[in-house]
Amino acid sequence: MAKGGSLEERWFLDNIKCKLGEGKQTKFWIHPWAGTTPLRFTFPRFFHLCENKDVNVSDLGRWENGRWIWELKWRRELFDWERGGGATNSLLSVISDVCPSAGTDDQWIWCGAKDGSFSTKTAYMAIKASRNAIALAVINEKELAMVWDTPAIHKARVNAWRIMRNRMPTYNNLGKRSVPLTTEEMTCNACFHSPESANHIFLSCPKSERVWDEVQRWMGITSARPRLIASHFVTFIHMGRGKRIEKLLKAIWMCTNWILWKRRNESRFEGRPWTINSVISEIKARIWSWNYEFCIVEKGLSFSSWSSNDLLLKLM
Ligand SMILES: [Zn+2]
Repeated sequence: MAKGGSLEERWFLDNIKCKLGEGKQTKFWIHPWAGTTPLRFTFPRFFHLCENKDVNVSDLGRWENGRWIWELKWRRELFDWERGGGATNSLLSVISDVCPSAGTDDQWIWCGAKDGSFSTKTAYMAIKASRNAIALAVINEKELAMVWDTPAIHKARVNAWRIMRNRMPTYNNLGKRSVPLTTEEMTCNACFHSPESANHIFLSCPKSERVWDEVQRWMGITSARPRLIASHFVTFIHMGRGKRIEKLLKAIWMCTNWILWKRRNESRFEGRPWTINSVISEIKARIWSWNYEFCIVEKGLSFSSWSSNDLLLKLM
């Protein structure tokens, strides 16, 4: 079974946001209440060490003079290197931004529909999307082979392969290898808020989310996005119809992630921040040239028609 629980649990969690009240109905490690990714995925080492994997948010702290004080519980004493330094600080900084609020119930917001309302139809669509995703959520050699037959330049394919294998040198990954890092180094330098994991850089960072929103608008696709990279890949490439469109979507997925990684490096190592518009323009121009190089779909469109919204409609 896919990492992340049963099918029912996964399709549901992929499509909800938790708005924290008192924290009595929200599972600390399991539900996505601090950011869009459950903490068990963002902090797997701490999840492994926690005393109770099923604990509610309200059970891991107390009120003191109107202030919420976190009291996390572990199966054993943490070692100094676990307690001090970047890792614990990152966890605390993520959860400290979303304190429980006394006297209000936790709320779950359904993202399967634009207006947040839950209906059988949106639930069905979400299950279908999730089923596609679950089927391939554990990336094996067969799925990895899909990376190599994508019409994209070599660097972008290598980038995708490394993302899928979680081999990106993100600071979160370096932290797992016990390279000593400061909290600042471990934090994403696009939003300056969350720990920098591959899932965050490529998917759940608010800036990356806006990039994906724009990419979907360009394609003319409206759909909730899975919260894990592997699921996102599989769901994204099946958003159109036919083999040619699937190839195009694979190329766009790889191009987008490759450019997000390049911009992350320019920003981190050269101090050059990036904008959503510049990333989107580069994606459109690159895919235009890849289409000429790899003959993905028909080439009859002008660049202005190519780069305006609802491209998939024009290619049907
Ligand atoms: Zn970020």
